[in-house]
Parts: sequence; C-alpha cells; structure tokens
Amino acid sequence: MSHVFPRHTKSNPPLAVKGDGIYILDANGKRYLDGSGGAAVSCLGHSDADVTAAIKAQIDNIAFAHTSFFTSEPAERLADRLIAHAPGSLDRVYFTSGGSEAVESALKMARQYFVEKGEPSRSHFIARRQSYHGNTLGALAAGGNAWRREKFNPLLIDVSHIAPVHEYRWREEGETAEEYGLRVANELEAEIQRLGAENVIGFIAEPVVGATMGAVPPVKGYFKRIREICDQYGILLILDEVMCGMGRTGTLFACEQDGIAPDIVTIAKGLGAGYQPIGAALCTSEIYDAFVNGSGFFQHGHTYIGHPTATAAGDAVVKKLTEGGLVARAAQQGEVLDAALREAFGQHPHIGDIRGRGMFRGLEIVADRATKEPMDPAKAINKKLKAAAFEAGLVCYPMGGTIDGQRGDHILLAPPFIITDDQIGELVDKLGTAIREVLG
Ligand code: PLP
Repeated sequence: MSHVFPRHTKSNPPLAVKGDGIYILDANGKRYLDGSGGAAVSCLGHSDADVTAAIKAQIDNIAFAHTSFFTSEPAERLADRLIAHAPGSLDRVYFTSGGSEAVESALKMARQYFVEKGEPSRSHFIARRQSYHGNTLGALAAGGNAWRREKFNPLLIDVSHIAPVHEYRWREEGETAEEYGLRVANELEAEIQRLGAENVIGFIAEPVVGATMGAVPPVKGYFKRIREICDQYGILLILDEVMCGMGRTGTLFACEQDGIAPDIVTIAKGLGAGYQPIGAALCTSEIYDAFVNGSGFFQHGHTYIGHPTATAAGDAVVKKLTEGGLVARAAQQGEVLDAALREAFGQHPHIGDIRGRGMFRGLEIVADRATKEPMDPAKAINKKLKAAAFEAGLVCYPMGGTIDGQRGDHILLAPPFIITDDQIGELVDKLGTAIREVLG
C-alpha cells in the first residue's frame, strides 16, 4: 500500500520510471507522449543532457547556500539572463520554488511597495473570473474559480473578479474584436472607480489563459487598454506567466506579443522545465527602489529561494530557450501543431474552436458547433477525454465541466518545443483516438 498522499485520492496512477525526449515510460513499459508537458512544464522534453549536466556540475560545487548569508553564481547568472530578455523596465528577480510561491511573492511585494511609499490604504487586488493563479491562500484568493475558493473562503483575502477576455465565447454579434477587447478592459476601470483607486494595489491576469480556459489569447488592444488604465489610476499590473511564459507562446515572455510590459511578472513551470522546482517574480527598478529607500527589507522569504541547484537548472534552460533557438522553435512548431489540429478536427461537430499561440493550444468542446452550446457537465466529457487519451498513450490536459457557472470543456495541449513534425502527427492521431471514443 502506498503512503503517498496523491493529488486525487481516488486515483491509482502508474509509476513513471523514465523520460525519453517527449515520452514518459511507466513501470509496465507503456510509453506516453507528453502532449501537455505535464501542465506546460516540460518545454525541453524529459531527457535534456545539457540541463542535467548543469545540475550535476552545480551539485558537485555546492548544492545549497542560504540566501540570508549568500548569493550564488547560478542565481546571479540566471537573474542576468532573465533581465536581459525581459520586457520594459523589469530589473530584479525574486526567486521562488514554484508558481504559487511566485504569485504569493508578487502579491505581497505589490502590497509592501505601497506601504513603503506611504500608501497603506491600498489593500485590494482585482483579478478575473475563470482564472487560476495557484493554491496558496493569497494566490487562491486571486484565482477566479469560485469552486476552488469555496472550502477556504473564511481564510481568504477579498479580491474582486472582472470578466476574462474570450472572444469565441463572449464577443457579441456586430462587435469587432477590438471593440470587444475595449469593452472588457473597461470593466477594470469601472471596478477601480467602484473601489476607489486609493484602495487598489493592482490587477493580476494571465496574458494567455491556460488551465482554466484552454490557451485563450487576448484580443488585440485588450492589454494595451489594461496597461493604460493601470497607469492612469496608479495601480500595478501583475502578469502571471507561470504557464504561458518562458517561450511557451513563441516569445520568451507572452506579453511581448501584446506590446506591453508589466510592473511584476511571475514565471515558473517552463523556467525549470521540470528538471528542478523553480519560479520567480520579476519587478521593475521602481518597485525595488521603494524597498531600498524604505525599510530595506521585503517582509517575505522561503528557505529555498535562489536555490543554487534549481537556479543552475533554470539558467541552462533559459540559455537553451534563447541562445539555443528553442523559443523560435516553439513559434515554428506551434504553427505545425495548429495546422495539424485544424486539419484533423477543424470540421468535427463537437470541436467548436481551435486557438492558442506557439506551443500552447486549446480545443473547445461543444454540444453544437452552430450555437456553441457547451456539453452537459453531467457527461464529464473532460474526465472521459483525459482517461481515453491516457489509455491511448497520450498525456493531455482536458478541463471544464462547470466553471463559475460557465459551462464548457476544453483540451489544453502544451508539448515540449523539441517535438518533430512526425511526433506532432502521432500526438494528433492519439488525440483523434480519444476524441472518436468519447465524442464520436
Ligand atoms: N499561475 C498559473 C497561471 C498557473 O497555471 C499555475 C499552475 O498551474 C500557478 C500559478 C501555480 O503554480 P504551481 O502549481 O507551480 O504552484
């Protein structure tokens, strides 16, 4: 009997014993194509020799040195590398061990920034419905899935949630994409005015929405308007790129494609590519300087921040992404994947939308293509698809059912950037097997 407290207490997952490129092998010798990189983690596949060599070399030198006393060569190198490629005036990197910690750090950093500036009345965050920002209490409060918050509500800070942007679902007839983008972005302004700008810390959103909506990009102009509103009211824009960052959408930072820069951006998942647990919150020099000129201390910290072995892995990963051309490859293979998905499922009566950017693609499942009527949640389509794909040897990430009263099932695909054209064909074939079995 296992003593591991598993993610799903009713499940009995197979033992993963070996990684081989884009594949994972279990103890019975079954091979799975990792079509979602776990959850948009494994951007380099599962057997990257350069990253494992960097980890081994670092462990041979020094595995850990506490950041109360030391910094380390790989942490310095990785921070330099990230800042060299970061948009806008992002200038400092606060390392964490994962995505939730990165978001939690960003929220606390944003709050303390205003305390340092002598504006303690600012205590409110605004986020979006149907969003996920992590499972620690602050990040969970920011998340827009009411069902995730339900059991913990008395423990959570009060965050307002405005509409997300999802053109396929909510653009109205007769409205252009840009008009729609402006309409939903302006909800932020209305919410700031309702709360009083002097009470608001910031707005947090994922540039391309991952798990909760299935690789949904914003419409053109949406984030430009969001940036404008944040500047106008003096509130911070926090972008959560834990899932969509680190090259996943075809640029190192997803927001580059929207022509804006945040005040704080969170990254994780692809940063360590699964080789080490690592995340980070990057902030501007303006925010950092408020700490330097104020109390001199960010009232936060975890034992493993800036962990030398984790940052050595992250440094090797980001080097491969940027200098090794893998971000460009994500953009290029993303187009191959998109074309293959459209050819295989573009006319399927129950696939309403195929969307995404780079190696971040989503398929929306509907009962009726013409009306976009979602599937009955009681059918548990996403669970059935996940199981059928797994049976066929494909790891993919279906989600949905009912989210905040909005019904809808989708499949998220986020394969490693190293995937070849033939392997994309294999992924689409396996997905086709699962879709035929569940949707006909
Ligand atoms: N933010 C986003 C957008 C995510 O998708 C996730 C995880 O899926 C998180 C934060 C939390 O990251 P982690 O699971 O590493 O704590």
